[in-house]
Amino acid sequence: MQKYTNTAESQYIAPKGLEPISIMIVCTTVAALQQHLQQQQITRSKTGFVPTMGALHQGHLALIEQSLSLELFTICSIFVNPTQFNNPDDFAKYPITIANDIRLLESVGCHLLFLPSVQEMYPQGTQATRHYELGFLETVFEGSHRPGHFQGVCQVVHRLLNIVPCGKMLLGQKDYQQCMVLTQLVKTIPIATEIIIAPTVREADGLAMSSRNMRLNPEQRQQATAIYKAMQFIKSKLQPGDTTTLASNAAQQLLDAGFTSIDYVSLAHAHTLEPITDWDGSTPLVVLVAAFLGEVRLIDNYVI
Ligand code: AMP
Repeated sequence: MQKYTNTAESQYIAPKGLEPISIMIVCTTVAALQQHLQQQQITRSKTGFVPTMGALHQGHLALIEQSLSLELFTICSIFVNPTQFNNPDDFAKYPITIANDIRLLESVGCHLLFLPSVQEMYPQGTQATRHYELGFLETVFEGSHRPGHFQGVCQVVHRLLNIVPCGKMLLGQKDYQQCMVLTQLVKTIPIATEIIIAPTVREADGLAMSSRNMRLNPEQRQQATAIYKAMQFIKSKLQPGDTTTLASNAAQQLLDAGFTSIDYVSLAHAHTLEPITDWDGSTPLVVLVAAFLGEVRLIDNYVI
């Protein structure tokens, strides 16, 4: 994997003048995090962990709130992981809003934020030392359109799970394939962490919340709602038999709405991600979408 630069680690500035709603511990090193957990006698089974890349929104906060509702000591990590970006420009432009993130985490009562630098996460460098066997999952959808992406995701989550002893890790269904990949990862490592998958949080107009939405201009933000509409269109018109025309009509709707290119609008088996082009009327389905509005790539999914 290539090395890209993003100054995420140097952009942390302690927010001034914030009125913390609750006191949240911020640890930037592994040693500080583990010392705190030890001192407070916080064990694995009592810990809920929400890994993120920051630029937090309500979708992330819902995961924090779910962990808190389970009465878990709740740890959020913010780390823009260089090894999972296959596009250097996407990495360089990934939004970083640390002061606001801290404010939001405190507002919901998150207990601890782990905010490591690239050096802290990858003391031996970002070069992969292990290949994760993901099989079929790495050959379809995000796997095929973003070569190396899931290897980078596994590399960082494996490292995080070695640093943060957590009984539960909370993930969003927004990243459907990633949830499947990480479910496979925790079985392979293996590690005693249960994965909880929470539903996608959407804006009122249906657009899935995403950190990348911040990069949309007002016109693109409006156009982005076409993804949800296209998924609803598929759901409403779905019939047993050939589904390729339906999927390509939905893709055309995105192009008509202003999307500049489409990676995929597809139906797949909801449990295996095997693409389905001829539906038997009973196989559980997920609609998967990835498309570009200018430089911004958006993904979404809808389980039928
Ligand atoms: P990210 O910061 O994009 O890497 O996302 C961190 C976690 O938040 C992942 O488990 C995502 O699936 C989850 N997440 C992101 N957006 C949403 C959303 N709109 N609804 C629910 N979960 C989300």
